[in-house]
Amino acid sequence: STPSDKFFLNSSALVIEKTKEPKKKQTDKTKLVFGKDFSDHMAVVEWDDEKGWGVPKITAYQNLSLPPSASVFHYALECFEGMKAYKDKDGNVRLFRPMENMKRFNDSAKRICLPTFNKEGCLDIIKKLVKLDQDWIPEGKGYSLYLRPTLIATQKTLGVGAPHSAMMFVICSPVGPYYPEGFKPVRLLADDKYVRAWVGGSGNYKLGSNYAPTIFPQLDAAKKGYQQVLWLLNDQITEVGTMNMFVLWNNNQDELELITPPLSEGTILPGVTRDSILKLAHQWGDFKVSEKNFTMSELAKAIREGRVKEAFGAGTAAIVSPIKSINYKGEEYPIPINEAFGAGPVTKKFADTIMGIQYGEIKSDWSMVI
Ligand code: PMP
Repeated sequence: STPSDKFFLNSSALVIEKTKEPKKKQTDKTKLVFGKDFSDHMAVVEWDDEKGWGVPKITAYQNLSLPPSASVFHYALECFEGMKAYKDKDGNVRLFRPMENMKRFNDSAKRICLPTFNKEGCLDIIKKLVKLDQDWIPEGKGYSLYLRPTLIATQKTLGVGAPHSAMMFVICSPVGPYYPEGFKPVRLLADDKYVRAWVGGSGNYKLGSNYAPTIFPQLDAAKKGYQQVLWLLNDQITEVGTMNMFVLWNNNQDELELITPPLSEGTILPGVTRDSILKLAHQWGDFKVSEKNFTMSELAKAIREGRVKEAFGAGTAAIVSPIKSINYKGEEYPIPINEAFGAGPVTKKFADTIMGIQYGEIKSDWSMVI
């Protein structure tokens, strides 16, 4: 987009209306519940197809007012992002590879005919919001301010079609570490009854409509005593819960290999954590790194033969989530876990490295001071 077109978000026009009633913060940060509390302010900007993006605003966190006919309520014309702001030991506020989120946000918008935007403009608004609410970033390693950029269609007619109006907003929620007492390895249920994403579908975009149908299978798995669903597609492993899936194993050629499914088929959400893990693994050069399909039957066989060293999910929420077993066709397949760490050594090294970068303890251009 260029400054003159309707997909240009002009962050320099941003208007800030500070709240008159600052809220009480949770004083005991160990009591924070994911996505329950929100900071004092939010960013909002509206779009219509005549005038393009309007004047971006930062206002008090408040309810939205929308007509019941708005297409977001009917056809799930919504996409979102999930990213975090961190406070380092010196009090600097940091984002982790935020342009990757801006790119994915734009790609998601495009897939469902929501307006796109210049990524820099969107990031600039987010930075200004986070700076204004920086007192809401809980301090300490593992603590952060979770950011939820969201884009919805506000078109007020019921026809199924590309919306003529939309709204982008960003809200911020203080969150604690995913694992306050060290890693808690999870048990997975690999059930082929449900499919999360398929070739030609939209699983590679962060659309609200991808998530609603996953809740029922997730509850089903929880009832049976499993923390997450391992999503399969024709027996191919795709993702774990809302995380990308990684396995460290001795492959058929007896090579130590880190494997994760490829993005090429459009069935995998391109995780920022996934990409970071792949790049780190390539840098380290300690094992072969493959973006390649593999099936649950192959994984089950490898576990039976003692070839699987570690397995974990990867995403912004937990960085990594170690996997200790998988139930497949009624059988339990255990994966080794180092008892002292609650995770395998390579899983832990990924977590420590990424967290070190996020909190500015390891120098890297992945961490952006704002
Ligand atoms: N897969 C799915 C389905 C997700 O919702 C997420 C969270 N955005 C991820 C993977 C991990 O992505 P990221 O590392 O960017 O958080």
